[in-house]
Amino acid sequence: MVSEELPTLLETDVVVVGGGPAGMCAAIAAARAGVKVAIIEQWPVLGGQSTMARVCMWHTSDRQREVIFGLTQELVQRLESYDAVQRVPDFPQSHETYVFSPEWMTLVYDDMVRELGIRTFCYTPCVAARTSGRELQGIVVATKRGLQIVRAGRFVDATGDADVGFFAGCRTLIGRESDGKVQGMTLVANFDNLDKSRREEIEAAHGPMLELMGQLRDRGELPSFGPHWFGGNFIYRWSGSLAACTSGDPLDNEDLTRMTMEARAKLPEFLRFFRENYPGCENLELAWTAAALGVRESRRVRGRHIFDAADVLERRSFPDAVGHGFWMIDIHDPDGSGYTTWYDTTTHPEPGTTYQIPYRILVADDMDNLLVAGRCASATHEGRAGLGVQSHCHVMGQAAGTAAALSLIEGVYPADIDVAALQQRLIADGVWIDEQRVRDARQAENNAEA
Ligand SMILES: Cc1cc2nc3c(=O)[nH]c(=O)nc-3n(C[C@H](O)[C@H](O)[C@H](O)COP(=O)(O)OP(=O)(O)OC[C@H]3O[C@@H](n4cnc5c(N)ncnc54)[C@H](O)[C@@H]3O)c2cc1C
Repeated sequence: MVSEELPTLLETDVVVVGGGPAGMCAAIAAARAGVKVAIIEQWPVLGGQSTMARVCMWHTSDRQREVIFGLTQELVQRLESYDAVQRVPDFPQSHETYVFSPEWMTLVYDDMVRELGIRTFCYTPCVAARTSGRELQGIVVATKRGLQIVRAGRFVDATGDADVGFFAGCRTLIGRESDGKVQGMTLVANFDNLDKSRREEIEAAHGPMLELMGQLRDRGELPSFGPHWFGGNFIYRWSGSLAACTSGDPLDNEDLTRMTMEARAKLPEFLRFFRENYPGCENLELAWTAAALGVRESRRVRGRHIFDAADVLERRSFPDAVGHGFWMIDIHDPDGSGYTTWYDTTTHPEPGTTYQIPYRILVADDMDNLLVAGRCASATHEGRAGLGVQSHCHVMGQAAGTAAALSLIEGVYPADIDVAALQQRLIADGVWIDEQRVRDARQAENNAEA
């Protein structure tokens, strides 16, 4: 039981809970906007799925030009200084733009929190919240000295699971509207001892092998898998080779453990298949598996707008846009087959087109001093499937962190800030916002209200 007398671990201006791509951008942006910031993170390193689940590809192109700048580009530059990022060769015609090293990603984030004086608490899960009316007064964190309270003026929920919003009693959304099921989850793995002298043979085998793997999977003779590509080993220094898929409830600790073990248990079968069938794989060995199961979707905080399929499909503009997105409705089968709607290109925005990401999806509807960013922002199952890629999470994080700081400085709640000032600050900080589309959307909204 949480007693009233919990000791205070820390009191600050802005607390970001969750140090993944969204949370890191929120913390960095808030610190640069001139307030004191702390990060609360349950894992040993910063970076969230980009480091612990080894998801290390960023998409910044609308297939004609780069449209995501801001902190994403700064992270790229910092990775470049460590020789730890590569640009994908078919840029800008594909969405894929950068592949980076998860190891160096953690170092880049370490550098940035040090430089900016952001107090950082890894190994520190948030387990409860303290509220008063519509205000979040503190979060309860589990430490080696027991439960303690972290107090702040503004909080950003970047936990991916909407833990803060949930603990604070906010309304939340989860999974598919029909049955609450979330997207399939994936364990990324890589193999050593690929015979790289046989590159051409290995690459030529990719198509036929994938087809064979699919047939064996459909007959129940091979486990389900997501992307598999040995070709990446020739081009990128850090990519995984295989994604083992699974499904279940990411908010149930026992089920999460079961899924992680289940995905890992599939690896010997894949290893055997590759050794026996794939050229150049005769001496293949398991090199590593990601430290954490990759979770694409779970709970989301209900905000002032719920981003949905139409926002993606109609490439909507918003008067309160804080950046752009272009990712399609990319749903990995909630039953864990590994199939993704990405293969059905009907939801892909046409090359050269984007939708805008509205500020309102970052403002919690039920708690006045809570912002939210990343995969737990306010969206439907399909809307989130567009917004979930890391570059889009960076955009949301940078906006939420900047807004948290500005709202404190202005002395108003995040819902009441001067959105035009937020947009100008983001543009000054390198974010691309098409201002003509913002003006048109504002005009359309005014006309609709009149
Ligand atoms: C297998 C897989 C493949 C993917 N492929 C791509 C891809 O190719 N390109 C791409 O851009 N995106 C991809 N994605 C999506 C992308 O990685 C995620 O959507 C993105 O990482 C979400 O960022 P986030 O910061 O919102 O959440 P996360 O990365 O999940 O970070 C959340 C952080 O919050 C912390 N946290 C959670 N709860 C608590 C708590 N109670 N207390 C303290 N800390 C907490 C977590 O430990 C974590 O560090 C993929 C995802 C998966 C799983």
